[in-house]
Amino acid sequence: MDAPLTVDSMTATLAANTLTGQMIIAGTPVSGTGEQVRGFDPSAGKSLEPVYQHGDASHVETACAAAADAFAAYRATTSEQRATFLEAIATNIEAISEALIARAVAESGLPLPRITGEVGRTTGQLRLFAGVLREGSWNGARIDTALPDRTPLPRPDIRQRFIPLGPVAVFGASNFPLAFSVAGGDTASALAAGCPVVVKGHDAHPGTSELVARAISDAVRQSGLPAGTFSLLFGSGPDLGITLVTDPRIKAVGFTGSRSGGLALVAAAAARPEPIPVYAEMSSINPVFLLDGALATRGDDLGRAFVGSLTMGSGQFCTNPGLVIAVDSPGLDAFIVAAREALSAAPATPMLTPNIARSYASGVDALTGSADLVGRGEGPTGETSCRAALFATDAPSFLNSEVLQAEVFGSSSLIVRCTDSDEMHAVAEGIEGQLTATVHADDSDVDEAGRLLPLLELKAGRILFDGWPTGVEVCHAMVHGGPFPATSDSRSTSVGARAIERFLRPVAYQSVPKSLLPSAIADGNPENLWRRIDGQLTQD
Ligand code: NAP
Repeated sequence: MDAPLTVDSMTATLAANTLTGQMIIAGTPVSGTGEQVRGFDPSAGKSLEPVYQHGDASHVETACAAAADAFAAYRATTSEQRATFLEAIATNIEAISEALIARAVAESGLPLPRITGEVGRTTGQLRLFAGVLREGSWNGARIDTALPDRTPLPRPDIRQRFIPLGPVAVFGASNFPLAFSVAGGDTASALAAGCPVVVKGHDAHPGTSELVARAISDAVRQSGLPAGTFSLLFGSGPDLGITLVTDPRIKAVGFTGSRSGGLALVAAAAARPEPIPVYAEMSSINPVFLLDGALATRGDDLGRAFVGSLTMGSGQFCTNPGLVIAVDSPGLDAFIVAAREALSAAPATPMLTPNIARSYASGVDALTGSADLVGRGEGPTGETSCRAALFATDAPSFLNSEVLQAEVFGSSSLIVRCTDSDEMHAVAEGIEGQLTATVHADDSDVDEAGRLLPLLELKAGRILFDGWPTGVEVCHAMVHGGPFPATSDSRSTSVGARAIERFLRPVAYQSVPKSLLPSAIADGNPENLWRRIDGQLTQD
């Protein structure tokens, strides 16, 4: 990209990448037969061309049959082949980035810098998994050598490695049209594991989905992989989505969205004759604990920084700080005054879809009837606008109210004023599972923070100090997960290198003839992997 990007220049580029309004099933563009949907520009309040049509059960059948056919050849590819394939997807996405950014900005109402950053995050994730594949420890190679002379019984030669589960269904998320959608973290980690992927695109961004699906399909072809390695379908969740999840050829599911949607998929997967894992990332209010020392020295700074995190992207982050917990003090008063002032200057910003804006407005209405209003952002300018809101309550009211504990997706947050540290701990104990828990602490708060930490470990997937939960680094050590209802399976992460583990399972090979052993666990270590041999990590 030589010239600086503007939405006008990108819209012109988009014309060159004409959208067809079709799904892509095993490399073939296919028109749907069901309900018509269009992308919607929430900033302009207008529908976008072209028309897309939902698929039906026959499309699920074709995509799943192709994925199952592709599985044998795809899982037999080497780590290097899959790494090169993931890099080809990233390169193809970069090649259409102007058109892609223009369409994603239009379909999401998210600002240009945010979407530009999301393209980088998406390609970065794909390349991260390419690196994971080349590094090799994802194989989980272990060898316990035979002990023929052991008494009273000899030990046989036993070796272990991970293999892919099989075709994976991925549900694109509305709030990350790129990084958690068609080529997002779930797709990248499943493809890295060796699993073909069938995506159900989100109706909020069909054009973005089509462009990315073409980039993936082109990479499938360029890499000489079976066409069924990847498909994109459009359709209603309760209809096509459930048909996909209950197809016997699908072996795992990745999802980001509402608690009700995630639980519907979990229930459908568990009721199958062969139940399968569903990795659903759902609801989190991401508590922020403000400790006394930090509030006393910088309560007002914290108030302003908090509003920055709260209002970013219209609050449409799963890590949005929806709950603030602190002991009453002059520092907390300063925090509240500064937050109210910053909030009053926060402009109304578009939300992803009219439905999401309606559900935000009704969540704020429910809080208005149940807590004290601290402040609001500037008034709405359109039917999809998000007007930020901040409320306050006391600890007993919070602990006794489902409304106060519920996620309100958008720029809304609740301050829980506690009488003392014990009450703050009671609130921490009373909250549900979370993606994140944040602590702001000064040196004088170390003892209090030390008391909180073991409790927060039981509540959240990521604990952070002196920062804000929005902004999730994609790296090897990241955990974007957490106890229910943050996710349906707290043992995993959907962001970062360990996401690959969700789509793998271990197999032990006992006394298998050496000539038949997979190379990851073969004698002589042909892949030069780090392996655990008789309990010791070694590259021998
Ligand atoms: P959603 O309604 O959960 O939808 C996500 C995906 O799941 C869509 O493809 C949807 O299909 C499907 N789905 C929904 N309900 C289903 C069901 N009962 N059975 C099968 N599939 C189902 O999420 P959304 O559209 O992104 O946003 C709606 C609300 O979800 C937001 O207002 C917010 O409360 C929450 N949300 C939370 C997060 C988070 O990270 N915590 C992120 C995004 C959204 P259809 O489009 O056909 O329904």
